[in-house]
Amino acid sequence: MTLEEIDKRYVLHTYARDYTEFVEGKGSTLYDKEGNDYIDFASGIGVNSVGHGNPTLTEAICEQAKRLIHLSNLQVIAPQAELARKIVESSGYDMACFFANSGAEANEGAIKIARKYGETRFDKKRYKVITLEHSFHGRTITTVKATGQENFHTPHFSPYPDGFSYVPRIADIEAAIDDETVAVLLELVQGEGGVQPFEKSEVQALARMLKEKGVLLIVDEVQTGVYRTGEFLASNLYEIEPDIVTLAKGLGGGVPIGAVMTKHKDIFSPGDHGSTFGGNFLSTRAGLAVLDILEALYDSGALHETMLYFEQKLRDVAKQNDDLFEKEVGIGLMRGLRAKEAKIQNAVLKAAMQERLIVLKAGRNTVRFLPSLTISKSEIDEGFARFESALERVRREG
Ligand SMILES: *Cc1c(COP(=O)(O)O)cnc(C)c1O
Repeated sequence: MTLEEIDKRYVLHTYARDYTEFVEGKGSTLYDKEGNDYIDFASGIGVNSVGHGNPTLTEAICEQAKRLIHLSNLQVIAPQAELARKIVESSGYDMACFFANSGAEANEGAIKIARKYGETRFDKKRYKVITLEHSFHGRTITTVKATGQENFHTPHFSPYPDGFSYVPRIADIEAAIDDETVAVLLELVQGEGGVQPFEKSEVQALARMLKEKGVLLIVDEVQTGVYRTGEFLASNLYEIEPDIVTLAKGLGGGVPIGAVMTKHKDIFSPGDHGSTFGGNFLSTRAGLAVLDILEALYDSGALHETMLYFEQKLRDVAKQNDDLFEKEVGIGLMRGLRAKEAKIQNAVLKAAMQERLIVLKAGRNTVRFLPSLTISKSEIDEGFARFESALERVRREG
């Protein structure tokens, strides 16, 4: 059997999967079985934040694996405590962390924190959570329900938990709040929904209004967090102080990890929440190495320079190809090109793969770029050269 045959026979069909067989990566370059190189403008889906085969990260993982990979959370775990301190200090917020294994799980933790807050801090229980249309918060039953896209709420998986509602715009949130509303959950830059950033002034006004009303602000930074937008958190960039923040994708550089942090540090008591794997030696050691690498990149100004360079390239591409694209969208290294028609999106993805460049989709008509934060200028140049060839191919082949 070929690998494709084995995969199709034994793995459940939940992804529209590409069958290029990658065997190695270095920085933002991937190699397939035949030794062909590909430029990686996707980094998983914003996960390989420090590139492939990063020596600092791989050494940290190997060293930790030789000592201890895992103990239960009934034991103290040194790298977990250190990573929590590092995350809290980098954020600048007076918060504490809980570690999970994914973005959806981090958001589940956030919703549990909000629900307990709503149950214990008010005479009348508050439990409702408002989210935004086109949001994405995960694939568990609860986070699917929190996701503001009706097509995700398929009857296949019903009934869903109560208490979630959606509004089209930030300006509509205030009117949607009632005396049972405990929290608003939102992404500052909607990722899966189309790389759509919200206005800073609008987000700041929202944060003020929620504080006045005693409604919690949960910011889902699973995609925007860990320097993706240029600051440690997008919340830092937007200069707001959320009650709860969730992280995952870029935090472990590819090792599964999620985190929820809150300023309500005494909300949970032992037994309220937990995870078998969450925060173990391996994943938190990886997180520490990732943050060391990215903090140095940030402090030296190199991250900012990479972001400006990438942005300029993308602007040029958008301008020179305005027959295909409406505009360039996004912040930092979370970028997109809004295609004029939905069918252009798929055609570009396919052509890019033929030119040995990996890009992503977002929403109905956005081509998305989530490169590693350590990507080099020459890899950016090569990637955009291949992207131009892919666009020529789209025009030729229609
Ligand atoms: C990817 C993503 C999630 C889900 O993360 P998983 O690790 O796949 O569970 C949640 N929220 C946002 C904003 C995401 O981008």
